Parts: sequence; C-alpha cells; structure tokens
Amino acid sequence: MKLRDQPDGPDRLMTWDDTFHFKCHPGTGCYNTCCRDVTIFLTPLDVSRLRKSLAMTSSEFLNRYTHRIVSSVTGLPAVVLRMNEDEHKTCPFVREEGCSVYQSRPFSCRLYPLDSDQGIEYRLMVDPAKCKGLDEPEEWTVERWRQEQGLPDYDDLDHNLKDVMQADLLWEEKIADPRMQDMILMVLYDPDRFREFIFTSSFLNKFQVDEDILEKIRDDDTALLYFGSQWLRFALFGKKGFLKIDRDYLERKKREVLTKKETE
Ligand code: SF4
Ligand code: SF4
Repeated sequence: MKLRDQPDGPDRLMTWDDTFHFKCHPGTGCYNTCCRDVTIFLTPLDVSRLRKSLAMTSSEFLNRYTHRIVSSVTGLPAVVLRMNEDEHKTCPFVREEGCSVYQSRPFSCRLYPLDSDQGIEYRLMVDPAKCKGLDEPEEWTVERWRQEQGLPDYDDLDHNLKDVMQADLLWEEKIADPRMQDMILMVLYDPDRFREFIFTSSFLNKFQVDEDILEKIRDDDTALLYFGSQWLRFALFGKKGFLKIDRDYLERKKREVLTKKETE
C-alpha cells in the first residue's frame, strides 16, 4: 500500500522496518522542484565532502556557498547552504539533468523524502499532493533507504559530535562569546583553517598530541573532526580526553605574564 493511502496518512511516524514507495527521476514531471527555496543545514561531513568534490578549500566553500546562522537558544553556530538569488531560489548545484554534486550531496538531500529528528522515528517531508515520486512502484523500508543513500556513513561522527554539542551543560549556559562561536565554526566546518591553527599557532606547545594522531589529522578531515570534538569537549567543558596539556609551557607563559605585569 502506498504511504499516502495508509489509514493514518502521510504524517504517520515510521521506524526502520516501515515501508514507502518512492523514486525521484527526470520522468516524474516534478523533477528538480525540490532543489529550490529550501533550507539545507550542512553537517561537518557534508562540508568536507562538498569542498573536496569542488576542489575548493573549506574556507572558500563556506564563503561562496553557505550562510552562517547562530541558535538563539544555545548560541551554537550552524551552516546552511545558500540558495541562488534567482526567481526560484534554486540550489547552486542543481542542473537540468539533476544534482551536479550527487556523490557528495548533503545529508538532508540523501534522507529526502524522509525527515527525522533523532534518527529513530521518520516522517515523510515532501508534500504527497505534489510529489509524483510517491506514485512509483519502487518500495523501500526506511532502513534500506538509509543504506542506499549512504546515511550510515554519518552515524558514528554524528553521535560523537552530538555527544559534545548537545551536552546538558550547553543548554544551561548559552554560548554568547562570538570568538567561541567562531572557534566552534572553525573546528566543525572549516577543516583547513582548523588544521592551520593546530600546526602554525602555539597549539602544539600547549598540548602534547601523539605523532600518529598528528599524522592522521594532517590530511584526513574525518580524523580531524574526531580530534576537533575532543578539543571542543576541552574548550567548552574542560574535559581533557586524550589531550595532554604541556604544564611546563603553561607555567612558563604564566611567569611571562606575571613578569610583564610587574614591569608595567
Ligand atoms: S545539493 Fe543536490 S540534491 Fe541537494 S538541493 Fe542541491 S541540487 Fe538538490
Ligand atoms: S516532488 Fe518528489 S519526485 Fe518531484 S523532485 Fe521532489 S522528491 Fe523528486
């Protein structure tokens, strides 16, 4: 039975075993209409994949293709794909033949036509009255759709980052300092800038990081994101994880500051 015909309608919440009919293709007559005037939040992995497929640095990608927004509740920054300023506010990557970055398309585009808050319950987010793809015979379970769309790739990193960014502590006190917001943005969404920060600032004087970890984060954005989540845990909540602070360096710096104050 097609989802739109089910007794409890298209708003029915689905879990991984539930089924729906769907195929989005150029023959539907509504093809590409979903790739316009839409708010697409990018995950850190999305930014890393997209900027690689476009052969851009992460900073160039963020400047050219995204808006930064800040949650009024938590003060956390997020990154949204910027639509073109044309009549239909089209996605910058949509072409007549479809998505030009299909292999690197964002998480939300992979999950479509479904939506989910926590990855446990899913609902149909496309308007069943307009989506011809829901009339197609191809049937999916939610789990098979997730697999087909490569969504499990996001699971580990997503859990890891949620663990840091949705910690209860964050909800108790809003992040109001723009420098802190910028640091979070850099760590999560701008791997090239974060890498430069690690390797060219005094970061490695303050923290002792094992050589094998340094080797990994030099080129691998995903390894850098895992590392970054540990760093955020420390910067936001003082939890060190595998970061080892160089106490001698900090003592030296403290003495320098005190000496400077005394001579002023
Ligand atoms: S990234 Fe691709 S699938 Fe997503 S809205 Fe843009 S063109 Fe459509
Ligand atoms: S309305 Fe449905 S079939 Fe048409 S483009 Fe959107 S998802 Fe595809």
